[in-house]
Amino acid sequence: MNEYDSNRILDLVKPIGYLPTKNISEADCYILNTCHIREKATEKVYHDIGRVKKEFRNKKKPIVLVTGCVAQAENEEMLNREKYINAVVGPQSYHQISSILNRIEKTEEKINSTEFEVIEKFDSLNELKNSNSKTSSFLTIQEGCDKFCHFCVVPYTRGPEYSRPFSDIISEAKQLINNGSKEITLLGQNVNAYYFQEQNKHFKLSDIIYELNNLKDLIRIRYTTSHPKDVTEDLINVHKNCEKLMPILHLPVQSGSKKILSAMNSHTNAATERGEVYAESNDSSRISVTRLDATISVFGMGACRLRSTANGHVVARSRAISNAGNNALRNLCGTLCVLFAFLARRLP
Ligand code: SF4
Repeated sequence: MNEYDSNRILDLVKPIGYLPTKNISEADCYILNTCHIREKATEKVYHDIGRVKKEFRNKKKPIVLVTGCVAQAENEEMLNREKYINAVVGPQSYHQISSILNRIEKTEEKINSTEFEVIEKFDSLNELKNSNSKTSSFLTIQEGCDKFCHFCVVPYTRGPEYSRPFSDIISEAKQLINNGSKEITLLGQNVNAYYFQEQNKHFKLSDIIYELNNLKDLIRIRYTTSHPKDVTEDLINVHKNCEKLMPILHLPVQSGSKKILSAMNSHTNAATERGEVYAESNDSSRISVTRLDATISVFGMGACRLRSTANGHVVARSRAISNAGNNALRNLCGTLCVLFAFLARRLP
């Protein structure tokens, strides 16, 4: 999603004269678009700013903006700690970036723009053509999360769940295809929680995929990341009916321990039950086993009070699940299992 956001930030600043450069030393403005998910994300931002300071030691200082989830989480604290930063801009406020740059050029004021203005953001972005011309492109359809797993910053940094209007998504997909995209990956923190209602009609992720499947010059469709709770019949059927939809499902198991899933405030029960959501779809022949593959991610982490031995248990159980211990997952023929180590973090 950060790649999508970075491309849109570029679309926003181009009209006021800023173009991308690979040469840091010639930059007038340095925008660091950040992600808060991984460990030490905040410290990495200060480290990067340190590199810019060094680069510009004897030159005119560039405008420095920190955007994205670290900016949202740290906001004022970041401006106070590192005076070299001109503005912090949250992931739901970056549509204001050109006016923020204009203000800084004139007044050099420090700006904290970390409101959750997600509707306004997408309304502004809709007015601007998506100029991304990569063969494979990302397209955000949904943002935010209402599920509040204890270990996760997303509900605090991206805000509540929001689904973009169906027609805006299709229109942006057509722009990307006209630019040369052959593959589109639909993005959302809970992409299959997508739900948009207009008059008497309502739209789900499956409706978007059916519509994209009919677009002539598009070859492949993907989506990420799905939540087990929101895997519905129509989503399973779309895998059967849309030949352009890649037969891959990302399965965020999170943990193999009921105790840890409960401590995580995870919204499905045990991992076995999570697996069954998908396996049921497979076993019932509603969809061919060979047609759907799965990637499995396990977060060996939990609430800070959990002991590392408990997390050792998570990883051990997870391995059992992905190998042979659980029929549900075994039937899905998972090809990739991503294990993350335990990390304790302070929530914003
Ligand atoms: S469902 Fe996913 S995005 Fe939402 S809080 Fe849990 S881990 Fe974070």
